[in-house]
Parts: sequence; structure tokens; C-alpha cells
Amino acid sequence: MAKKTHRKSLFRFEMMEGSIAIQKQDLNRSSQGSSNRVAARKFLARFQGQAKVVDAADFPHQNRLLALGHSYCENVAQKAKEKLAEMGLNSACHSGCDACCYYAEMDATGLEFEEIVRYVRQAMPAAVRAELYHQVEETPDFTKHQHRPCPFLDRSKGNCGIYPVRPMGCRGLLATKVCRLDVEEDTGLETTVRLVQQAWQEMPIRAGLLMIAQEQIRKGKGHINLQQSSSEVLVQFKQLEAEKLKKLFSPDQFEE
Ligand code: SF4
Ligand code: SF4
Repeated sequence: MAKKTHRKSLFRFEMMEGSIAIQKQDLNRSSQGSSNRVAARKFLARFQGQAKVVDAADFPHQNRLLALGHSYCENVAQKAKEKLAEMGLNSACHSGCDACCYYAEMDATGLEFEEIVRYVRQAMPAAVRAELYHQVEETPDFTKHQHRPCPFLDRSKGNCGIYPVRPMGCRGLLATKVCRLDVEEDTGLETTVRLVQQAWQEMPIRAGLLMIAQEQIRKGKGHINLQQSSSEVLVQFKQLEAEKLKKLFSPDQFEE
């Protein structure tokens, strides 16, 4: 059990360091100065051009800056895989492999969650939505389920129901051995977390910063603040109430 808890904490660390956390060097790189405060709109304007050319087929987000951030996450995961290959290792992750969707404490920024809600209502296949609805009905209290699955996991197939708009944390997780819920073993996550962090250093900016800048504007704040922004409120997937999830997945809402 201890190792699994450790694995969870490593995953959290990866999320914070690889995606959400604001690092001073990122701010400095963006603001061309040394201040902790960066004008949010000016900062975002620098990325609008790149956001426009992100492929909508792979990143169908309505929020294109969010699509850009998620595309950076994909680049980072790809770079980490290439670094693994240089070490003679491979990622064991594959479609239908879902242990991480049980043990990870997944969450999303407010903007990511908005995009997820939009996707569920407008683009999720009806059969998947019906399955997710059925799962909530069957296990309304996810926190008491044996392994606490993510409510967006289609447990019958082991597939992510919101794959095209899944949050940042889900995009950077790699393991060199397939994770299993019933076996406590080293999945090589320590190695992959380190490689993911290295890969972020090669990117123009951390994806979370694009989202946090938008969150700040939404809250009427004009600046990103190094001290405050890393404590942005996140939506914890496994804490979502069953009634809210049922409303979200309800077949009655299909025509919205
Ligand atoms: S190998 Fe582990 S981290 Fe990778 S997809 Fe499977 S369960 Fe998730
Ligand atoms: S959002 Fe998708 S990939 Fe992420 S934990 Fe949930 S089911 Fe798994």
C-alpha cells in the first residue's frame, strides 16, 4: 500500500510541476523582466497566433488557448517517450489500460472543466454518455467504491470518456511497466516523471500558465501573480456529487 500511496504523490508532483505550477523562470521568460506580476492579457496575446493553428481534429476544444496548452502537454509526453527510447525503455501505456484512472486523484482547472462539460453535452457519443450515466446510478458514491474510479472512465471498456478534452494531468502520465491495482510494484514512474519534467524545460511555456492567466482575467484580475496563482481552485473529479454527474450525463440533456 505504501508504494501505491507514493505513486499517487509522485503523480500529484508531476501534475503540479509539469502542468499547473507557475515557476519564476516561466514568468520571467514571458514578461522579459524579473517581476512576479505579469499582465495577463499581454501574456496571453503572445500565444493567440499559435493557438489558432492547433489542429481542431485532435484538439476540439472551443477554448483554443486551452487546446494549445493541451497540445503542449502532448508534445511533452511525446518528448518523454523519445527520451525513454534513448534509454532503451518504452512506455507501457496503451488504450484500455486504466489502473491510473483508479488510483490517481484527478482534477482540472475551472476552464478545463468547462470544456469537459461542453464536450459531454455536445460531442460525447450517446453510448458512452449512457454508460457513464449507468455507472453513476450503479455506484453513486464514488468515494466508497473499492478503488475510487474517475467518474469519466468508461469502466466497461477501460477507456476515457472525455479523451479529447481530458485534463493536463492525464496527458503527462507514463509508466514503463503496466500498472495494476492488485500488485504493488515499481512501474518506473520515477523515471518518467523526471523525463516529463525535463521535457517541459524545452517547451516555450508551461501549459497551466495559459489557463491560469485566463482564470485571472475571468476573475477580473489583470495580472498573474507568482505567489497567488498556484493555489487556483481545482475541480476534484472524485469529489463530484452523484446528482451533478447524473445531470451531466443524463440522456434528457442530449439535445442541448
Ligand atoms: S501503464 Fe499505468 S500510467 Fe500507463 S495507461 Fe496503464 S495504468 Fe495508466
Ligand atoms: S479524465 Fe480520463 S484519463 Fe483522466 S483519470 Fe479520468 S478517465 Fe482517466
